[in-house]
Amino acid sequence: MTISRVAIIGLGLLGGSIGLAVKARGLAITTTGWDRDAQVRARAAERGLVGTVCERPEDAVAKADLVILCVPVGAMGDAARAIAPGLAPGTIISDVGSSKEAVATALADALPGACIIPAHPVAGTEQSGPDAGFATLFAGRWCIITPPEGCDPAALDALSGFWTALGSKVELMDAAHHDLVLAVTSHIPHLIAYTIVGTASDLEDVTQSEVIKYSAGGFRDFTRIAASDPVMWRDVFLSNKGAVLEMLGRFTEDLTAMQRAIRSADGDALFDLFTRTRAIRRQVIEQGQDDERPDFGREHGK
Ligand code: NAP
Repeated sequence: MTISRVAIIGLGLLGGSIGLAVKARGLAITTTGWDRDAQVRARAAERGLVGTVCERPEDAVAKADLVILCVPVGAMGDAARAIAPGLAPGTIISDVGSSKEAVATALADALPGACIIPAHPVAGTEQSGPDAGFATLFAGRWCIITPPEGCDPAALDALSGFWTALGSKVELMDAAHHDLVLAVTSHIPHLIAYTIVGTASDLEDVTQSEVIKYSAGGFRDFTRIAASDPVMWRDVFLSNKGAVLEMLGRFTEDLTAMQRAIRSADGDALFDLFTRTRAIRRQVIEQGQDDERPDFGREHGK
């Protein structure tokens, strides 16, 4: 099975980056796209995010070998229903949603009998919209594919090959396991960032201007994550409720243990944890998941 036509539905950060990556890598693939927002469609055409920006969803997907839904997870069902009238038999339907079990169910309900293979490129930024995409977003990053039971192996190979051609490393995973892993590596960190930034902004005895002025003490790194798209993240928490609540339960227990260690002046407990977490940072760098320069490579003294 060869993928030579790809339709991208939703032309924001993820959708735009896929289109730009196909173009930048000179792949022999024609791209079409559609977004429900006319202004986004106009901007996508100006930036050349895809070869052809279509005015109707059914036109974007007609003749596509692969359709990738790049909309918030809560909108996957609506987007799938919008493309249904234009889909040819055998077209692979995939997505980039940050949670996988709920999306798989939404797509199967909207497109019964279609060849659906959900996926999640673990790559992104805190920016969104048609100006946010860039061609190298997926280079060297993981793309987790969660094939449903009975998935066509040729279609799975074709989808894996597409993500590899964009520069991603591909991993196959069960959808429920994906949701648990991403709850701890992505969803809970975002929840913590949203909460700490919210807490700081609600303080009465520390002014907002002080919070911003002294933010380089660590706070500003949370503000980057807490600036992420509110619609996207609302949908992630609602769709991955079970795994997020399970991980949040564990996190709360560990936080209580830290509270106890500080109250009882248990320096050894604090030291042991901080030593373990420092080793995790080393592994993240060794596996090429981040920049090893201090402070994320920010320039100081300017
Ligand atoms: P984005 O920049 O906001 O783009 C999403 C686009 O989809 C917007 O233009 C939105 O239009 C459009 N849209 C919404 N509902 C639609 C519908 N029913 N039909 C057609 N278009 C629709 O978001 P993104 O960051 O690319 O995220 C897209 C998906 O990627 C999400 O499922 C997210 O979980 C996943 N993801 C994101 C990241 C990340 O870091 N951002 C990383 C990995 C995966 P409106 O503006 O009109 O709503």
